[in-house]
Amino acid sequence: MTQSRPSIVIVGGGIGGLFAANALVGQGLKVSVYEQAPAMTEVGAGVYITPNSVRQLQRVGLGPQVEKWGAKVGARSQYFHHDGTVISDVQVTDTSGWNATYGMHRADLVDMLAKALPPGVVHTGHRCTGFERHGDGARVTFENGAIAEGDVVVGADGIHSALRPFVHPESRPVFSGTITYRGVVPAELVPEWPAESWLMWLGKGKHFLVYPLRAGKLINFVGFVPADREMKESWSAAGEPEALRREFADWDPQIGYLLRQVQTTFRTALFDRDPLPSWTKGRLTLLGDAAHAMLPHLGQGANQSIEDGMALATILANSDRSTVLAALLLYERLRRERTARVQSGARANGLRYDSFHDDLKLRDAEITAHAGFRKQLYDYDVVPVARELAMDLV
Ligand SMILES: Cc1cc2nc3c(=O)[nH]c(=O)nc-3n(C[C@H](O)[C@H](O)[C@H](O)COP(=O)(O)OP(=O)(O)OC[C@H]3O[C@@H](n4cnc5c(N)ncnc54)[C@H](O)[C@@H]3O)c2cc1C
Repeated sequence: MTQSRPSIVIVGGGIGGLFAANALVGQGLKVSVYEQAPAMTEVGAGVYITPNSVRQLQRVGLGPQVEKWGAKVGARSQYFHHDGTVISDVQVTDTSGWNATYGMHRADLVDMLAKALPPGVVHTGHRCTGFERHGDGARVTFENGAIAEGDVVVGADGIHSALRPFVHPESRPVFSGTITYRGVVPAELVPEWPAESWLMWLGKGKHFLVYPLRAGKLINFVGFVPADREMKESWSAAGEPEALRREFADWDPQIGYLLRQVQTTFRTALFDRDPLPSWTKGRLTLLGDAAHAMLPHLGQGANQSIEDGMALATILANSDRSTVLAALLLYERLRRERTARVQSGARANGLRYDSFHDDLKLRDAEITAHAGFRKQLYDYDVVPVARELAMDLV
């Protein structure tokens, strides 16, 4: 079986592609990652890492790095009304064995994932432009004239994936009507801020989220506000801090305390996609936002892409070149339903967070009860399920 183990080409070196590469290398498989950017970089904003993916980061040996670069989110995490009155506590710890939730700087997470790979796995400056079957394998072409071949190609190239049209040309991004202002404030500038807590304020058509990053040295904020016109989804558009301050001017004064220290923000329009009816065509499959772009209202886009990578590696580890097509279909079978539930759950949670409810008492009760949904999300371990499915390949 060793000689006929499949080789894998991953297009996209974001959180999803890089984690998948780590998981595949961990299984002893040959993998290459092709990223369009000239260097591995990420924007100055945070990502919330939850137990369902922390478990997988630990499995590939990155637990100590998560402890080092993450900021463990602890007690006193809460939801508030816009004026600062408490709605409910947020369940971020668990006695039944969770491995904790962490805020991480996106750049720290990408750097940690890239550095954990053996030299030569990641190829930057490669923008994928084409895909085709080639003999009994698959071939990817790049704008710079390079070609990569493998038994399997994984499109991990984000919400505007160049590879998804080879599976589903008709899929379109759906604009949510919301834009975000994101950024970080050094914790030393806001000494009164509770630096261990995940905090969210909910008002009509807007919400405001704060959690710590980088061992508590940075405080990450996201202001969600309505957009009056459709913006192209982008991480790099600069947002005006004064406009952000105006959006939340009459909210809890604690928000004003933080926002007074904001010097730069990124503005991002929020898009997702409807669940795809399938992710795989022959030797090409999709992963992360390319497969299931979702709104951030459950904080799961990156976490689900990490689950995808671990599922794919676990199943491919049990395949060989003769069973690899069946392996990709098993991967899709395992992941598509769960991620579709998270996609629709994120849309529903966005409506709760923006207070689009006739009865806000009922909304508050749903927010409180949401601890049950989060527990189910966080308790899930994709590996035993993937191993069991992969038995069908042997
Ligand atoms: C406001 C906001 C807040 C969020 N908060 C959270 C959170 O708290 N927790 C969470 O889990 N998720 C969160 N997410 C979602 C999360 O950021 C994404 O789901 C996650 O980054 C997806 O990773 P990915 O690797 O699939 O895609 P991406 O991170 O988009 O990576 C795709 C990579 O592919 C590369 N690429 C694109 N096209 C090509 C090409 N043609 N050729 C080669 N390379 C290409 C890109 O340069 C990029 O590096 C948030 C998202 C938003 C917008």
